[in-house]
Amino acid sequence: MLQYFAADFLYTENQVFHDCALAVENGVIQDVCPLPENAEVTRFPDCALIPGFVNSHTHSFQSLLKGVCDDTDFFTWRDQGLYRYSQIMTQEDLYTGALFAFAEMLKNGITTVCDFFYINDQANDNAQAVIQAAKDLGIRMTLARTFYNWDGAPARFRETPEQAVENTLALMQLYRDDPGVSIIPAPHSLHGASMEMIEAGAALAKDQGTPWHMHVAEGQYERQMTLEKTGKSPIALLHRHGLLDGAMVGIHCVWLDESDIDLMGETGARVSYNPSSNMFLGDGVTPIKALVDAGICISLGTDGGCSNNRASIIEEMRMTALLQKSDTSRCLGAERRSGVFNGDRQWRRKFRTTVGKTCARVCRRFCGGGSYGSVDATERPFWQKPGLRLTTLRDSGCLCGG
Ligand SMILES: [Zn+2]
Repeated sequence: MLQYFAADFLYTENQVFHDCALAVENGVIQDVCPLPENAEVTRFPDCALIPGFVNSHTHSFQSLLKGVCDDTDFFTWRDQGLYRYSQIMTQEDLYTGALFAFAEMLKNGITTVCDFFYINDQANDNAQAVIQAAKDLGIRMTLARTFYNWDGAPARFRETPEQAVENTLALMQLYRDDPGVSIIPAPHSLHGASMEMIEAGAALAKDQGTPWHMHVAEGQYERQMTLEKTGKSPIALLHRHGLLDGAMVGIHCVWLDESDIDLMGETGARVSYNPSSNMFLGDGVTPIKALVDAGICISLGTDGGCSNNRASIIEEMRMTALLQKSDTSRCLGAERRSGVFNGDRQWRRKFRTTVGKTCARVCRRFCGGGSYGSVDATERPFWQKPGLRLTTLRDSGCLCGG
């Protein structure tokens, strides 16, 4: 039986509609139509019905570290905050941290998240605890299982390339048929992973047909270190090793020069932009305007709780608009700021091919600050196509709103 849902505004394809409803059958959106006259309509007054947001980068366990080492330099933050506490977290802590992070995201309309996870203890149990938190709350997730072998990092982060490949492959196989979970390789960074490790991660992604994520040129020190060691910028170095292509999503990409941007544009490499975190850690300003002009696909991320203290893509849109304008004196169009439009294009193939038209709704209450309902947004256009799936937080038993 068809159900109808309506709000004061319905947003899709860069347009706002009034007096329209979603027609839904068995959780699947059939149509966007004029308000029916002779059918019951579930209404959400003072709300807009919009696609869910995609958060393309976070570290969920860091929600437990909010406020730790605020207002310190990067190395104090890393060593006295992140490394210190991540060494003593139990598997239950990791699950709890993920619950807090994902619940905050869902309340803020994020319905798909990529969790870059590195407290692996040379196994998959911790990652599975985080995935369980996502499943318990009903958020869709990609777990970017980290490849990490820098010996300056805590031992529980580190694996050999062989271990990382074997464990990641096992985790991929475990969730292969799960429509709400995907696994991708994520070499940590040029400072956190050896070139052998990075190549192993990229090769696994290629073999399995997935994207892969890596922190790239986040801090100025990484660019300088790479230049001194190799004579190449981080992007040029990756390109020399044949690693830049449309499967690579570079996280942050703050310290780029023109030739780096050209290389990324030519190869189709992608970017996850995390403006609040970049400001929080004093990393600098990613040249978004130049990346957009080069045709590079950009998504938005919140990064972890201890480098942002909040998890909202709407907040990241605002930060993008303000930070980029202050840096370049030029405006980005609203469509450039939206985490919806490009975030979904970076998403995993599994969602696209098996659940590709899955969709849902976010009802954001303009008055009162609360929000309810949730959904998903992995494919455009969201609403017009028949066959989209509608899911709600209410359906998943979490955070019933009103
Ligand atoms: Zn990160």
